Amino acid sequence: MTARILDGKAVAQAVRDDVRAGTDALVAMGVRPGLVVVLVGDDPASQVYVKNKDKAAREAGFDVRTVRLPATTTQTELEAELHALNADLGVHGILVQLPLPRGLDADRVVRLLDPAKDVDGLTPTSVAALVLGKPGLRPCTPAGCIELCDRHGIALEGAHVVVVGRSMLVGKPFAHLALERNATVTIAHSRTRDLAEHVRRADVVVAAVGKPGLVRGDWIRPGAAVLDVGINRLPDGKLTGDVEFEPAAARAGWITPVPGGVGPMTIAMLLANTLQAAANQTGKVLPVRPRRVGSTS
Ligand code: NAD
Repeated sequence: MTARILDGKAVAQAVRDDVRAGTDALVAMGVRPGLVVVLVGDDPASQVYVKNKDKAAREAGFDVRTVRLPATTTQTELEAELHALNADLGVHGILVQLPLPRGLDADRVVRLLDPAKDVDGLTPTSVAALVLGKPGLRPCTPAGCIELCDRHGIALEGAHVVVVGRSMLVGKPFAHLALERNATVTIAHSRTRDLAEHVRRADVVVAAVGKPGLVRGDWIRPGAAVLDVGINRLPDGKLTGDVEFEPAAARAGWITPVPGGVGPMTIAMLLANTLQAAANQTGKVLPVRPRRVGSTS
């Protein structure tokens, strides 16, 4: 193996330490960041995610609570809850755990969140800010990929970045974040012809598809940075990414493992967003900036 490991656990801890320091500073100014996680129904995976987010937010020093609503909650009831949270001055960040149970309209729910409290960066206002290159809360997983690059000195400026996957959660926002950093971006997706040829030209590959081993190791350009967002469970229960790890690591300059690469960054960036949202809403200036905002020209 030639690649150096992009250690998501270590970088996530560094971000979380920065957030903790920022929280302490904000508390000294009279503001404790408040995060509310809304969980509807009893999907087992969502229960685990919500528990982890709650724990991480507590460790960051936030005032955090989980609003648990039954699977029978109606759209009107859920929207009423979110209106109340939008209006609550002690709540700086609202996260609605997706997917919602069948029958609830997630798009409508996301649209009515106050963009100032949109710590997942998914409202149309946040998406517009990203595309326009204006300040705003950025989606956590792609922001985590940028942070991993930044903290390992992987330059995006002028680099050819190939993003495999075009979801609103990962692929598209990552492409815009990379563009904001002056990368030259190719977005590949399910209808792309000859994916291999695109990946072979990449200085940075981001795989966000959800298909184990889709990106073959021998496609990786020697020295390239490989960020594998995919999380796939194999029949033996083990987790694996979208990239063939061993052969890719033999060629790449940098690579994220799965698990322990991009995964831990998502919660870390959620905390960073909540801290930033709390500072923005209360007119405070954070002495520690947990993330850098790129140029937009
Ligand atoms: P998605 O299903 O919404 O999107 C998948 C994308 O892959 C689509 O845009 C599709 O066009 C593309 N695609 C499908 N087949 C393809 C092919 N053969 N070639 C090229 N592109 C193809 O998924 P998502 O929400 O973006 O998630 C992607 C993966 O990342 C999943 O494994 C998910 O579990 C994981 N994920 C991880 C984190 C994290 O915290 N690490 C966060 C979100 C998602």
